[in-house]
Amino acid sequence: MDRYDRQKRVQGGHDLDQRWADTSILLVGIGGVGCPLAQALVRSGIGRLTLIDGDRVRDSDLHRQVLYTEPDALSGLPKTTAAIKSLQEIGGRTELIGVQEMLTPLNARKWIPKHDLVLDATDHIGVRSLIQQISLETGIGWIHSGAIADRWVAASFAPPGSPCYHCWVSPEASKADLGTCETEGVLLASCMAASAAVMRLLTELIRSSSTASANEPIASRKIIRGSISEGEVLVDLYPDPDCPLCSSLEGWKSTLDQNLYPMRKLCGSGSLEAWLEVGIDEIKKQLKKNSEETALKESPLSVRWAGEDGMITCFGDGRALITGKLALDETIARDRLIQLLGSPPHHRTVT
Ligand SMILES: [Zn+2]
Repeated sequence: MDRYDRQKRVQGGHDLDQRWADTSILLVGIGGVGCPLAQALVRSGIGRLTLIDGDRVRDSDLHRQVLYTEPDALSGLPKTTAAIKSLQEIGGRTELIGVQEMLTPLNARKWIPKHDLVLDATDHIGVRSLIQQISLETGIGWIHSGAIADRWVAASFAPPGSPCYHCWVSPEASKADLGTCETEGVLLASCMAASAAVMRLLTELIRSSSTASANEPIASRKIIRGSISEGEVLVDLYPDPDCPLCSSLEGWKSTLDQNLYPMRKLCGSGSLEAWLEVGIDEIKKQLKKNSEETALKESPLSVRWAGEDGMITCFGDGRALITGKLALDETIARDRLIQLLGSPPHHRTVT
């Protein structure tokens, strides 16, 4: 018996099954929403699934991140390793690839164009902005999803074309104190609902892919929004004529200005994470040029700058961790990065 027989038996199922098998997906984040989503994609035989996540499995993940086990958490296994092990046991035709990195401006242009579609299951507005920017550049669509407390959301930005993610969420939102899984908690039910909503959007998209023409402007999009107490609603999203990202070239440039060394506060630790967009060799060269040698400490994978008001540790994937007093104020932290590293590359090339 054919493993995929029952999904071929639904109306139009043969055609859908073939397209499903021909589709390659980049799943960004294999946490609460990403785990059930990856499982559903492998069960239903998506052609190729690349999982990108730089995190390790922790105890506090186990109540909702359905691919991981207690031994995974005890040994602090990388999520990609644990997820692939679990997904391989399901078997089937899906080709699985694990990338143990965070998606950053440094690697996004390498990974996104190798896929037909991107699924965002992170809790990181900066990552969504990055996916949206590359989607506009490449014409590769994406689906956003998220879950927090007893609520969930999913929205498709595929095929690309207006409106975009920032017609809905302002880039400034990343600076506001949004709730996180650490402050508000999250239920498994919300994660499952978000992943089910993504599967619905994806099925609809792949089913209609022969009729939709890529890059044709779209009048509105549906956002699926739900909570356990109030149920699920569909919200219409229309293009925002003042959207900082998709409305004009000037808007695009000013978004780049605002995103000079994008930063976010890390849960609970009081430190900041910044994106540097350059490799570790370039960072080391700049740091040696612009700071005292004695302030630097090098290892093969990172370089650390220590000053009186804090520390900046730069990693090979283009991220930097800022701690101490420096981490209390984003503006001061950003000024210090500019002083030590110069302007980020996209800023030097945009005229
Ligand atoms: Zn927009």
